[in-house]
Amino acid sequence: MKKYLLIIWVVASTFTACNAQENNKKPMKLNKLSTQEAAVILHKGTERPFTGELLNNKDTGTYVCRQCDAALYRSEDKFESHCGWPSFDDEIAGAVKRVPDADGYRVEIVCANCGGHLGHVFEGERFTAKNTRHCVNSISMKFIPDKKQKMEKAYFASGCFWGTEYHFMKANGVLETTVGYMGGRTQSPTYKEVCTGTTGHVETAEIVYDPTKTTFEELLKLYYETHDFEQVGGQGPDIGEQYQSVVFYVNDEQKQMVEKYIQILKDKGYKPATELRPAPEFWSAEDYHQEYYDKKNGTPYCHIYRKIF
Ligand SMILES: [Zn+2]
Repeated sequence: MKKYLLIIWVVASTFTACNAQENNKKPMKLNKLSTQEAAVILHKGTERPFTGELLNNKDTGTYVCRQCDAALYRSEDKFESHCGWPSFDDEIAGAVKRVPDADGYRVEIVCANCGGHLGHVFEGERFTAKNTRHCVNSISMKFIPDKKQKMEKAYFASGCFWGTEYHFMKANGVLETTVGYMGGRTQSPTYKEVCTGTTGHVETAEIVYDPTKTTFEELLKLYYETHDFEQVGGQGPDIGEQYQSVVFYVNDEQKQMVEKYIQILKDKGYKPATELRPAPEFWSAEDYHQEYYDKKNGTPYCHIYRKIF
């Protein structure tokens, strides 16, 4: 029985190893190499210590093969060895092949995908817990930084900001919402000050969204579908400058998109009262106003969704 299990284990691990290799395989389209790159990658040369451009790189990302773009190392495995070449204590599974060096005593490392020379690997030096140092020529690699999440902002005012935020919080691609005040004459206003009607601020929701998951246009449609944009000087029972329908645009594309939709609404027979203004500073409202309906488990009294587009 034990023997069978062993066979199964060997077969299974062979498959796993093959799969790991397969996943790392890139189509073999090789990048053209400069003379200096070829001297190291093809002819197994070594760049001068402390000269490589990736030696002191501390950004998060992936180190890939300069010749074939296969991923080799992750930034979290890079460490400072003071030896003059980028050092890693681990490779991406299956990405690096070890071969006995022609010098008879060192172990050479090559890209498992294209065979390009990377450097040498040393064990037992006790630099890190993994006790391994991949000593890699900078010139054999390229660095691909991790993508930072893209974020864009939009500012919508449609009456009481509790109701405005309520719908955007639930919208696809929205990362964060904050309610606050925009467009007034004083700095950092309080709710009480805004409610006096003398500061000129408008209750506004700041929407932070991922432009790869939604668009300003989608958000704008939701804006129009969740308030009475024909009402002048307020929203529902909330009357005053503070409750006006306003879009504060942050760039020309947003401005043109709002103009386009105001025209679309007019063509549909509506009389949009929405004002279009460039975005001034946004002042966050007090904590108790944030995500109000979710905290109170309630629903808006005048922001009712109706399909228009
Ligand atoms: Zn390669």
